[in-house]
Amino acid sequence: MSLESPNGRKYVPTAFARENSWVLMYHSVDTYEEDPNLLTVRPDRFARQIDWLRRRGLRGVGMSELLRARAQGRAGSLVGLTFDDGYTDFTRHVLPILDELGFSATVYVVAGLIGGHNVWDAGAPRKDLLTAEQVRSLADAGVEIGSHGFHHVRLPGLGDAELTTETALSRELLEEITRHPVNSFCYPYGAVDAAAVSAVRTAGYDHACAIDHSPLTDRWSLPRCYVGDSDGGWRLRAKRARHLMRDHHLATASRRGAGGLRTGTVDLPVPGYKPLSEGPSPARSTAARSPA
Ligand SMILES: [Zn+2]
Repeated sequence: MSLESPNGRKYVPTAFARENSWVLMYHSVDTYEEDPNLLTVRPDRFARQIDWLRRRGLRGVGMSELLRARAQGRAGSLVGLTFDDGYTDFTRHVLPILDELGFSATVYVVAGLIGGHNVWDAGAPRKDLLTAEQVRSLADAGVEIGSHGFHHVRLPGLGDAELTTETALSRELLEEITRHPVNSFCYPYGAVDAAAVSAVRTAGYDHACAIDHSPLTDRWSLPRCYVGDSDGGWRLRAKRARHLMRDHHLATASRRGAGGLRTGTVDLPVPGYKPLSEGPSPARSTAARSPA
């Protein structure tokens, strides 16, 4: 059975086993004076957040490890840790904490801006992006390097050649730099549509991260949970519960669909599915997530 949107377009949401698939989305971990886009978590806060996971018997891992474990039915205690944009502060403030606990992560690097700055974040403080040497060093240390595109642009609306640059060319360049396979992609701004998914799959990625739950949610549009500097233990607990509830909404919609096969239009909200705020308020949430 397909579902019908208010404007009469029909689609069937994807089937997706979502159990134990909590994936956290970070950007920068550093001290700061101003952070208008709420993308930075202070190092002491980050340490407490990671310790919160540890105390609950959870272990943070990169996306490929998480998905491999899920395929083998052993992901119950794993949480995906992702760091968008590839800021140099990862090496100073994140890696030592992860190493100490035996955690890992996926860092999504903007292939065409390696060694540069977050030039796409107009009005936000400049932050240094990892150099090629740092990216290679992280990969050699066991941190998964994924692609965050070539120019940090939204994929929906791009032409075929531009999509190829953002997906295939960025992968090629990062594999040259890391000398490791690059199998994970992350959509800039979490912006994804069917053409973007198709380009990512054609480029050979194993999976891709988005932000929101949507009818596109599957292995190539994995939802993630924004974590900010104000997130202490009770807020993380609430966010995890909300994430699971969204999984439940989609799983329920999928069960009502035709065996979980994706057909027709996929860029519509699930009827009856009301997205919940990820952050402290809708405005804050939007601001925080838009520069992903
Ligand atoms: Zn980003």
